[in-house]
Amino acid sequence: MSISRRDLFKVAGVGILGAGLLSKPAFSAAERVVKMSAMLPSPKGNRVVICGGGWAGLTVAKYLKKEDPSIDVVLIEKRPNFFSCPISNEWLAGFVDLDFISHDYLQPASKYGYKFINTTVVAIERDKRRVYTPHGYIEYDYLVLAPGIKYNYDAWFKGDKDMTRYTKYHYPAAFIPGSEHLALKRKVWEFEGGDFVITVPPGVYRCPPAPYERAAMIAYVFKKNNVKGRVIILDPKEDIAPKGPGFRAAYEQLYLGIVEYVPKASIKEVDPVNKIIKTTAGDFKFTDANLVPPHQAGELVWMADLIAKDKEGKPTGWADQDPLTFQAKADPRVFLVGDVVGGVPYPKSGHMANSQGKIVARIIASRIKGKEHKLELPDNTCYSMVNGNPQEAIVISVTYKYDEKEKKIIPHPKVINQRSEALAKATYEWAKGMYRDLFA
Ligand SMILES: Cc1cc2nc3c(=O)[nH]c(=O)nc-3n(C[C@H](O)[C@H](O)[C@H](O)COP(=O)(O)OP(=O)(O)OC[C@H]3O[C@@H](n4cnc5c(N)ncnc54)[C@H](O)[C@@H]3O)c2cc1C
Repeated sequence: MSISRRDLFKVAGVGILGAGLLSKPAFSAAERVVKMSAMLPSPKGNRVVICGGGWAGLTVAKYLKKEDPSIDVVLIEKRPNFFSCPISNEWLAGFVDLDFISHDYLQPASKYGYKFINTTVVAIERDKRRVYTPHGYIEYDYLVLAPGIKYNYDAWFKGDKDMTRYTKYHYPAAFIPGSEHLALKRKVWEFEGGDFVITVPPGVYRCPPAPYERAAMIAYVFKKNNVKGRVIILDPKEDIAPKGPGFRAAYEQLYLGIVEYVPKASIKEVDPVNKIIKTTAGDFKFTDANLVPPHQAGELVWMADLIAKDKEGKPTGWADQDPLTFQAKADPRVFLVGDVVGGVPYPKSGHMANSQGKIVARIIASRIKGKEHKLELPDNTCYSMVNGNPQEAIVISVTYKYDEKEKKIIPHPKVINQRSEALAKATYEWAKGMYRDLFA
């Protein structure tokens, strides 16, 4: 049943008026949200609601409309505009301006004909097929969850919210775009000397080469600004990966005495107030830092109760998804796309999220038409800038094949560790192509 604007205000008003008459609130704030009506009139056909308008969500929205314009596609995103993590390290070094990595959500929504709703998803009821926002709920036939990652500061601070807040404000991770990136850039450009520490998260995390590329770009800025600073990378791994030889060569040939790479440095304790990090490779005092905690699937996957469990029944922190269909194992009407998934050989990258998004759009469109969808696997390409003068980059590309016998997805990587200006050019061409695909 559709509801008019007047009705909507009436519904909201009843709660407030009723509260006054009864001298105690008729509904709690949460109940008021739940009692609110549907935000959108019911569609004529199928509705797909996509939660999260990042690399994955934007791709699913556009390609669903391209596959079948009759599908009612609703994209819900909490940010008012798009800020790209890819190329943010080049922006950090001053090679591109903010316009290059910022985009508006209105152009693709109007061009491709999907609905863009700028609000936050606050609850999901899978049994009712409803997504709740502070403005009411939206019903779906299919749901796509693409909220990216969240930080797990509890691994460091065991639930101490004050310490978490202090660390976020003073040493932002800048792996989720927005203010954190702006704060990090200010810190890097205002740095006056000393040790600048970067922590590499343990296990699976967003964009495996990003901390190493970021270290190279920060070292470049220190060198350019004649700042007597060191960039210390604390890595729980035994060696740099991926593109290890390419990063190592850059650190040794371009930033000798500036970048110090410390392997096997698993974090035991972080003391942001006294600026000390205790690791299995020793204790490190820092002047300033980019403290990146462990990552997990974004909150919406937890809200929807779709987090995978390990053998002991403990949450793995990542979405429980069938990697061949992208469906939630517990609910075939829900698709999980992009960085939310762990335990597959796919890295968490914008390219991968875009590639997966196209496949998911085709799977959902086929399903709606009642057709079978032939198996498709995504691919990945990831450039890393390592030099600023001249700009030079390295690259990894990976295709995937499904081994029927082993029931396994097998990666086939190709790496170019020899840095070059041609690859730096290709980096920007790749980014422009991606932004065109998502926005133009
Ligand atoms: C420094 C850095 C450099 C990188 N460089 C590269 C690179 O060169 N190449 C590459 O391919 N990848 C790169 N990446 C990785 C890339 O940014 C991610 O893999 C990509 O963003 C994943 O896309 P996603 O859609 O899963 O998540 P996101 O892009 O994070 O999108 C998730 C969206 O969901 C929204 N959301 C979350 N919760 C809610 C809610 N409750 N309600 C409404 N909206 C919500 C968020 O606001 C966000 O917009 C880099 C990452 C970093 C940090």
